[in-house]
Amino acid sequence: MSTAHINTLDIKAIRNDFPILARMVNGKPLVYFDNAATSQKPQLVIDAIVHYYSYLNANIHRGVHSLSQEATDAYENARIKLQKHFNAAHSHEIIFTSGTTHGINMVANGFSSLLNKGDELIVSAMEHHSNIVPWQMLCERTGATLKVIPMNENGELVISEYEKILSEKTKLVFVNHISNALGTINPIKDIIRKAHAFGAAVLIDGAQAAPHIKADVQALDVDFYVVSAHKMCGPTGVGILYGKEAWLKKLPPYQGGGEMIAEVSFEKTTYADLPHKFEAGTPNICGGIVFGTAIDYINKLGMENIASYENQLLEYATKRLLEINGLKIYGTATNKTSVISFNIDGIHPYDIGSILDKLGIAVRTGHHCAQPIMDFYKIPGTVRASFSFYNTKEEIDYLVEGIIQAKNMLL
Ligand SMILES: *Cc1c(COP(=O)(O)O)cnc(C)c1O
Repeated sequence: MSTAHINTLDIKAIRNDFPILARMVNGKPLVYFDNAATSQKPQLVIDAIVHYYSYLNANIHRGVHSLSQEATDAYENARIKLQKHFNAAHSHEIIFTSGTTHGINMVANGFSSLLNKGDELIVSAMEHHSNIVPWQMLCERTGATLKVIPMNENGELVISEYEKILSEKTKLVFVNHISNALGTINPIKDIIRKAHAFGAAVLIDGAQAAPHIKADVQALDVDFYVVSAHKMCGPTGVGILYGKEAWLKKLPPYQGGGEMIAEVSFEKTTYADLPHKFEAGTPNICGGIVFGTAIDYINKLGMENIASYENQLLEYATKRLLEINGLKIYGTATNKTSVISFNIDGIHPYDIGSILDKLGIAVRTGHHCAQPIMDFYKIPGTVRASFSFYNTKEEIDYLVEGIIQAKNMLL
């Protein structure tokens, strides 16, 4: 386990927590700059998975036996850790999901019976497809229509335009806290307050924010907040939907099955209380428990320390990358996090990504599940380098060398 000092992180010690960072890729030391797609896992998260299946495995919430009780306690304990981390008022406002996509679909599905033709929903121009498509499907089912908050060249939402499309007809607003393609940190507190003035509910996609900045769901007064564990040092296949108690009571369940019922007969079934109403079937028990372990890990480092170090990396990388002739950064918001999307004049992003891969550097290329952003800039895609607290300035220097090498080969 690493030692985090107040206001500083011992990056060398932290890197030793992540076994994958010691491996070679294509004969070179791995430089992992695809953190916006998924983060790497520290040893204690990996150990917690092995520990669960070695010593704790049992089904939860239904066993009379001790092992089941222990597994249930560990799972519910993780829920409380998540409640505290996001400062929810109640632990039953934390619903375990399989990830952000699942959480959004749960809410979109729940609103099917609450919307009417003529109702309006508001999305932003910089959403991940998972915060667009479920709502389009909801519109098809209900006859509601979708309006879009536009963005400017810097990749910032135009709030004055948002104010114009908000009305009494608006029922729901859904925006990401941080854009995975541009790194923009959106002014969600203001967006939420303005929606509430018209009685509209707000869902915030926190998938990209949760690894970098701490969200306080009560201070934000947000109705729904969704995240994935795998982007914040946890395992894949687990996440949470935070929902205000009143909303979760109002929404119908997403799936029917075991675990989510109070009583079942062929005449009538009554649903279980929160959170179980939304947790049909055997959940990802190990994933939920280990999500709690990952939360402990990042809290030990300190979210503020993480944010401040990642900001240094962002500043340094921005400065170094802009030294490269012909390189253009997409997403230059004043308030942004450690994601840099860029292109080089005359070169397809995929070609740069492939050459970087040969050098052991993992970046993402393409539309980053956010095609409307690419359409806005009239580009097929970008190269995206996204940094985490275990990355270093030396790795950024190596990236810059790699890009220059790629340029020399391709131009
Ligand atoms: C990764 C991501 C998602 C999707 O998360 P899944 O874990 O794939 O469900 C949604 N929105 C944003 C902003 C993301 O970065």
